[in-house]
Amino acid sequence: MSDPKPSPPTIFARILAGELPCHKIYEDENVLAFLDIFPLSPGHLLIIPKEQKAYLHELSAGSAAAIGRVLPRLARATMAATGATAYNLLQNNGAAAHQAVFHVHFHLIPKIGDRGLGIGWVPGKLPEADAHHMVARIQDALDSDLS
Ligand code: 5GP
Repeated sequence: MSDPKPSPPTIFARILAGELPCHKIYEDENVLAFLDIFPLSPGHLLIIPKEQKAYLHELSAGSAAAIGRVLPRLARATMAATGATAYNLLQNNGAAAHQAVFHVHFHLIPKIGDRGLGIGWVPGKLPEADAHHMVARIQDALDSDLS
């Protein structure tokens, strides 16, 4: 059997490798944060793990924790710098969910006037029986995920 064809490095992997430039905001052992090149609003940041995974659910607990640790500080700094008092965190997984770069990333998007994230949100209903069924299914999956 032949080896699977290696996928080309993503843009973010190339930024991490220093092959492409970025406007760096923050870096530590596990995390890099930089300005989005096509910002929805001034101060729109991307926060990425150095671990190269396409989707959040593939990320190690250590990388996820490292991002979680720094998010509040990055949010405070971005609000202070932009004057924004509201912001969204967005984290897309899968092309159907608007993911274009297949390296885990969190968007931090200040809301400044009418600039920022627009959300199409169409709420459904949660009948009691559906809720019980869904809780059971997700808890079963959690119990069998020992990672
Ligand atoms: P996604 O839709 O995958 O969640 O978002 C990918 C983001 O990466 C987009 O907001 C896009 O503007 C940003 N982006 C794509 N290429 C580059 C790049 O070369 N440099 C930077 N800084 N951001 C990029």
